Amino acid sequence: MRIYNSLTKSKEEFIPLVEGEVKMYVCGPTVYNFFHIGNGRTFIVFDTIRKYFEYRGYNVKFIQNFTDIDDKMISKSNEENTSVKELGDRYINEYYKDADALNIKRATVNPRATEYIQDIVDFVKELIEKGYAYEVEGDVYFSTKKFHEYGKLSGQNLEDLQCGARINVDERKKDPMDFAVWKKQKPGEPAWESPWGMGRPGWHIECSCMAHKLLGETIDIHAGGTDLVFPHHENEIAQSEGRSGKPFARYWIHAAFLNVNNQKMSKSLNNFFTAREILEKYDVDVVRFLMLSGHYRTQLNFSLDLLDSAKSSVERLYNAISNLECLLEETPSDKLTDKEREYIKSLEVYREKYIEKMDDDFNTADAISVIFDLVRDVNTNVDINSSKELINFSASLIRELGEPLGILQKSTRGSLEEEIESLIEQRQKARKEKNWALSDKIRDDLKARGIVLEDTPQGVRWKKV
Ligand code: AMP
Ligand code: ZN
Repeated sequence: MRIYNSLTKSKEEFIPLVEGEVKMYVCGPTVYNFFHIGNGRTFIVFDTIRKYFEYRGYNVKFIQNFTDIDDKMISKSNEENTSVKELGDRYINEYYKDADALNIKRATVNPRATEYIQDIVDFVKELIEKGYAYEVEGDVYFSTKKFHEYGKLSGQNLEDLQCGARINVDERKKDPMDFAVWKKQKPGEPAWESPWGMGRPGWHIECSCMAHKLLGETIDIHAGGTDLVFPHHENEIAQSEGRSGKPFARYWIHAAFLNVNNQKMSKSLNNFFTAREILEKYDVDVVRFLMLSGHYRTQLNFSLDLLDSAKSSVERLYNAISNLECLLEETPSDKLTDKEREYIKSLEVYREKYIEKMDDDFNTADAISVIFDLVRDVNTNVDINSSKELINFSASLIRELGEPLGILQKSTRGSLEEEIESLIEQRQKARKEKNWALSDKIRDDLKARGIVLEDTPQGVRWKKV
């Protein structure tokens, strides 16, 4: 398997630290509001990468944190006149609702920064002891000059950074590029005890600390959106490698941003969507399909038109599965013929191609094309004269290739039932409104599909004839 490593800026063969295992840390959301579809894309990308590792037989330890203490949390809790703790609890709960609805598998652990304060304090103490950090009147800063490889992830050296940076001059820092690992309490802010007085952790330190606690000093993969390369991930490397003297993460994966109608998403441009707004109108398979239709390292354009076209693509795939599942009930043939055995071998080539694409830095766009090629082949070659075994194999293979992408797992029977129930409801409404033409049309359309309605004292029943 080859992964583009942002640290070396090249595609590298993936070699796990422990055979058969992947230790992966993904930077998660700050939990002060509902997450938006940009966050959604990044979460879906890393969920897919995780699921693909699992598909290939790895045991994945997947950690994604919740940042539940920072400036945004504090100002939002003040605005809402609530505590930072209550705000975090609320939006973590909402995060799970949306992530579950997006078919994102729950992480092995979702650590919250505020649950690791003692570990963070210990981490900072060690940085001070080793000479990488220094205290000034209750604040603790990381001394970037002390970490000689500072800038290696973002490809900058300290001098470039100092020249280019618009720095808030803070007289107390030894160097403008130094960053806070512990922040002294300001009036009214939540705070914890520490050797430097009451305060709270800086943002970057939480990920260094929790990755270490939950996965160890060196991990396989560290991931996040491209905006996190600098300064967040650069600073994480400095802290973690400064403390342990060992490489922090062997592979760094960064997902490109999502734009809406080719513009940066922002509330002021009125092109801002939360994930749940989109999920109210579009099925999760459609949303994931669009999010994965481009490579994760290229920016993704998002629009309602693109969602509509994703919707028809997904329908084509589900129609194929649904046809096969109907054929399975109808075919009289149980026995696999020699010719079919050969044909199955030719279908297995699609699985190999799919793996080849996904093994090449998780090329979901090309992997999706392979699924379409498979469906086209099956649509022309599998029919009522095919054996149960062949039909079953074809449907299962399509579903199997959808699994790591988090699509094509729904029951087609389930969706048929839902559709019929909804048509029956529309017919009842039409009857109430004495719209006989519409109610007759719905009944006749269903009949044409082999579905007969019966009016009973308990309500309308339907059956397939
Ligand atoms: P945040 O809560 O802003 O820290 O974001 C959580 C995750 O979403 C991080 O990995 C960010 O890099 C990512 N992210 C934020 N905005 C976008 C966007 N517009 N497109 C893609 N990913 C994003
Ligand atoms: Zn992080």
